[in-house]
Amino acid sequence: MKIGILAVQGDFAAHADMLRRLGAEPVEVRTAADLSGCAGLILPGGESTTQLQFLQEEGLYEAIKKFAAEGRGVFGTCAGAILLATKVLHPAQDSLGLLDMTVFRNGYGRQVASDIFFGDSKLSDEPLEMVFIRAPIIERVGDGAETLAQYAGKPALVQDGNILAATFHPELTTDTTVHEHFLKMLGDGTERNAGKRSTAIGDKSSNEVLEPKAS
Ligand code: GLN
Repeated sequence: MKIGILAVQGDFAAHADMLRRLGAEPVEVRTAADLSGCAGLILPGGESTTQLQFLQEEGLYEAIKKFAAEGRGVFGTCAGAILLATKVLHPAQDSLGLLDMTVFRNGYGRQVASDIFFGDSKLSDEPLEMVFIRAPIIERVGDGAETLAQYAGKPALVQDGNILAATFHPELTTDTTVHEHFLKMLGDGTERNAGKRSTAIGDKSSNEVLEPKAS
């Protein structure tokens, strides 16, 4: 299964390594055409302002919105999660608005810059390893979205249908849980080709399609 990774800036190579470990084929995405044939897309960590500018200049901003509207999966980590949010604060900036949540940039400050922390998650019985690097804090999650993991009382991994956002960097640990979950969300790709869309923001009724299995 081919998974695109926005490869403009930031730690896209670490995501590619993680995908290869799990048997998926990473595809570097720099143009809208690179998205064709991808079952999902990862928006990596980095600097969201720079990434946003690139998306807008290269026509990827609209192309990614269309990609998601077709029901294909999009997973954003840290800066990528900022790009996915409907509302971005501190400072405010535009975003793709694919996941109904409010994020506060650089919310954890420097003190959690490089250590590994452990948060509670619905994806596994074990605590989830979490690396935070100038990470945003998710201040609000919309009714249609589910918090899959949290750290220090704040959501750290949130899913709304085919959209997944982590404020931490699962690609920088050896724990494959979150990427495995993303690949499971994508299934074998055939559902999307049939034109099924999992969830529109605020549309709870269609949330079952790609809802994570409780485990
Ligand atoms: N602080 C960065 C931003 O606001 C995100 C940091 C990261 O992705 N590790 O874009």
